[in-house]
Amino acid sequence: MKKHNFSAGPCVLPKSVLDKCSKSILEFNKLGLSLIEISHRSKDFIEVMEKARLLTKELLKIPKGYSILFLQGGASLEFLMVPANLLKHKAAYLKTGTWANKAINEAELYGEVNIVGDSSDTNYSYIPKGYHIPKDIDYFHCTSNNTIFGTQIHEFPEVPSLMVCDMSSDIFSREINIDRFDLIYAGAQKNMGPAGTTLVIVKDEILGKTNRKIPTMLDYQTHIKKESMFNTPPVFAVYASMLTLEWLKNKGGIKEIEKINRLKSETLYTEIDRNSLFNGISNIEDRSIMNVTFDTTRKDINIMFDQLCDKAGIYGIKGHRSVGGYRASIYNALSIDSVNHLVEIMQDLEIKMK
Ligand SMILES: *Cc1c(COP(=O)(O)O)cnc(C)c1O
Repeated sequence: MKKHNFSAGPCVLPKSVLDKCSKSILEFNKLGLSLIEISHRSKDFIEVMEKARLLTKELLKIPKGYSILFLQGGASLEFLMVPANLLKHKAAYLKTGTWANKAINEAELYGEVNIVGDSSDTNYSYIPKGYHIPKDIDYFHCTSNNTIFGTQIHEFPEVPSLMVCDMSSDIFSREINIDRFDLIYAGAQKNMGPAGTTLVIVKDEILGKTNRKIPTMLDYQTHIKKESMFNTPPVFAVYASMLTLEWLKNKGGIKEIEKINRLKSETLYTEIDRNSLFNGISNIEDRSIMNVTFDTTRKDINIMFDQLCDKAGIYGIKGHRSVGGYRASIYNALSIDSVNHLVEIMQDLEIKMK
């Protein structure tokens, strides 16, 4: 039986995508060959790459002037590539958690980092607001959704320079205005596909301005010129991502999935707030619609809750070690049925404890 997969990443993918992927491993496009055996320069694979780009462009309504790349190294390599390509003197960073901190560490290798907002005082339970972004920076960097802490930026700040955003865990989950961003990156394994590829959306005109010699593989311009085929791309990850984007388009696109995502998160938060055995962890107004962090109000019920979840086929809700408690990741491919199932378990526990 397929489990209800609440894992934070790698995570749930649509069943139809997994079916097509498994077939493609045995034979792709009736070629008598597997997807992972053919040349990445073959017409069949180039078509996959082009489709993935096109679907990204369509779903996110990306205007002219941006390049769409499928790279390797995860979002973690983008922490380094962003400053290597954009940082001349100084950048502003919003310090909202583990991933933001890793991005800050890499940026410090290239220049001055100005931390304009910081929520470490409460273990990142909120999104800083009302902070000042100085004018003399090369770019501002933020993490749209803090996967580990369950906070999300619901209103992006006005930025006097370039705007860079790590959208690893909420890309394709809600409508965003791409015009407001100059560079967006996202590891595939949360809302797009399996681990192995990273989506980068970058405004062409911002590149090539640092006068720095950038190693070939770290230079976005290398990958733009070669349409993400400078070296062998992760063919399987790109193919599976393409299928997931196709699935999303068939579901009605981002507008429709956002409605479902909001319904899923409201359903779960409503139960957390109603049920006296549970408490939310993150600040209410900053709650994420992708990663729902919560804890029990009585330590003596944790074992029973874990057992109930286990028996019900609920997988992956243990909180990150730096937060504790529980975290239900409810990405695009997780159905409302799975959320309702978890809510039933929480209600079940309440009845058992009466
Ligand atoms: C998972 C995650 C990362 C790290 O991604 P990798 O692909 O493992 O490097 C970075 N940022 C955010 C917001 C994430 O959720």
